[in-house]
Amino acid sequence: MSWRSPTERPLRERTKLQRADSRRHHRSMLLQHLFMAGPTSRADLARASGLTRVTVSDLVAELIDEGMVEELGAPPTSRRVGKPPTLVGLVADARHVVAIDLSGDDVVVGAVFNLLGELLTRETRPLGGRRGGEAADLVRAFAADLTARAERPPLGLGVATPGVVSPDGVVLDATNLGWHDVPLADTLQDELGLPVYVANDANTAVMGEYTFGGGDEDGLMLLRLGTGVGAGLVLSGTLLHGQRGSAGEIGHVVVDPDGEDCSCGRRGCLETFVSVPRLRRRMAQAGGEAAAGRVLADAGERLGAALAPVVATLNLGEVVLSGPLDLVEPLGRQAAATVRDRVLPVSAEELVVRPTALGDDGVLVGATGLVLAGELGVS
Ligand SMILES: [Zn+2]
Repeated sequence: MSWRSPTERPLRERTKLQRADSRRHHRSMLLQHLFMAGPTSRADLARASGLTRVTVSDLVAELIDEGMVEELGAPPTSRRVGKPPTLVGLVADARHVVAIDLSGDDVVVGAVFNLLGELLTRETRPLGGRRGGEAADLVRAFAADLTARAERPPLGLGVATPGVVSPDGVVLDATNLGWHDVPLADTLQDELGLPVYVANDANTAVMGEYTFGGGDEDGLMLLRLGTGVGAGLVLSGTLLHGQRGSAGEIGHVVVDPDGEDCSCGRRGCLETFVSVPRLRRRMAQAGGEAAAGRVLADAGERLGAALAPVVATLNLGEVVLSGPLDLVEPLGRQAAATVRDRVLPVSAEELVVRPTALGDDGVLVGATGLVLAGELGVS
C-alpha cells in the first residue's frame, strides 16, 4: 500500500461501451425469471421482463427448440374466464453441469448437477499428497471422467480452488496445491471442449448461497471456517473480485497484536481465533465446558470485531457462515451481537447472520452457479 496524491494517479482509459448483445440478454432475462419464479405464462413473462409479447414468444419458441424450456399446460388453479394460459418452465435436466471442489484436505470432490442445482452424482478422489503438475494431471483426468458420466450434454465445468484466482481462471497462487500461475481454466477448456469457470472456493461458496441458498441480493458475505478462514462477497448480484482478486481475505486481519503466531508470519490474525483446528484445540485445553464456552464466546467477539467495519461500510444484508455447525451457530450469534454493539443501528438492524443453507456441498453447488451465470446469465 502506498499513499499518493491525486495528481500522480494515472488516468484510466475508459473502455468504450460495447453494444449489448440484446438477444442474449433478453434470453437471460427470461431464463432468470423461470429459474427464480418457476413455470410462468408467456404473458406474465412479458410483464415481468418488460419485453413485448412477440419478442417473448419468439425467444420461448427458440428455447423450446433447444430443449431448455417446455410447455406445461394450464396452471391447476386458473380461474380466468376464457382460454387458460399455457405455462412454460425450465427443463431441469436439459443440460447437466460438472463441478469440482479442490478445497478439501488432500481430497478432490466432483459432482454432476442439473440446472436447478440438484445433485445427480458425487465422487471423491484422494489427492494422495500430489502437488504441482501431478495434482493438475489428477484434476484433468477427474474432470474428463465426470464429464463423460454426465447423462445430458454438459453446459460447462465449474472448479473451486483454494488460493488466489484471476477473473479469467488462472490460479495465481494456491500454496496447498503447489500451484503458481497455473492457467487452469484454459487447460481444462482445451482438453474437454467445454466452457470452464475457475474461482476461489470462498467465492464459489458465496455464489452458491446467492444462487441456490436464498442469499441476500443487496449485500451477502460468506465466511468459510475450516483450516483457514476465507470469505466471498456478492454485492448487487455481482461477485466482488477486488483489485488483485483477493477480496474477502479477512482471515489475516490482525485482531490481537499480541496473539498466537499465524501461518502468514504475523500474530493474532482472525484465523488464529476462528479456524476450526485452532478453535477446537483452545476449547479442549480450556478445562471444562464453561471455560470452553468462554473461548467460543471470545472467538465470536473477535469475529464480530473484524466484521463490524465491513458490515458498516457495505451495509450488508447477510453474513453467512459455513463450517461445523456446533461451532458456527454460537460463533454467529456472538458475532452478530458484537457487530450490533459496534455499528450504527441503521447499518445492522436488518442484518442476518446465519449458517449456510447448503451444508457441506455449498462449494460444489456454487461451482455450478458459476457455470449457470456465465453460460445462461442465470444467478
Ligand atoms: Zn495471518
